[in-house]
Amino acid sequence: MSGEVNFACATCGAGMLLPIDAAGRTARCPRCESVAHLAAPTQTTAALERCAHCGSRALFVQRDFNRKLGFAIVVLAALVAVPTWGISLVVAALVDLALYRALPRISVCYECDAIHRGVEVNPQHGAFDHAVAEEFKEEKSKRQVAIQRWLRERGGHT
Ligand SMILES: [Zn+2]
Ligand SMILES: [Zn+2]
Repeated sequence: MSGEVNFACATCGAGMLLPIDAAGRTARCPRCESVAHLAAPTQTTAALERCAHCGSRALFVQRDFNRKLGFAIVVLAALVAVPTWGISLVVAALVDLALYRALPRISVCYECDAIHRGVEVNPQHGAFDHAVAEEFKEEKSKRQVAIQRWLRERGGHT
């Protein structure tokens, strides 16, 4: 199974896409040319163990749902709800459900938000947990503050 990982450049935030078998190697950002290093080694096992981008084990699983499409279906159903006596809303809900079930599952990293597609999901990774995400958000902002302080201090000395 060949998967791919989608992550944001740490410097400029541009989206980068790499095959997971390139894990362990480096990639150059197409926008700012800074080099990103994939932390996790090549996936030899079928299920995804760690985030290919940052190596974190904290991942959650979700459906690769196209929110815009889901929203469009609901809006369309609402528009024709009166002439169809509300049946369109029921149909839309069923279509949304069917779409959702047919969608492939993706693994998302709590730590760096990298998205892994085309890889077997790990049964140990649960659905998105808000409490866990909050923890990581706090961690992230702490790190952000530390980096900024470091940059300021360094700037003052040179
Ligand atoms: Zn970049
Ligand atoms: Zn990650």
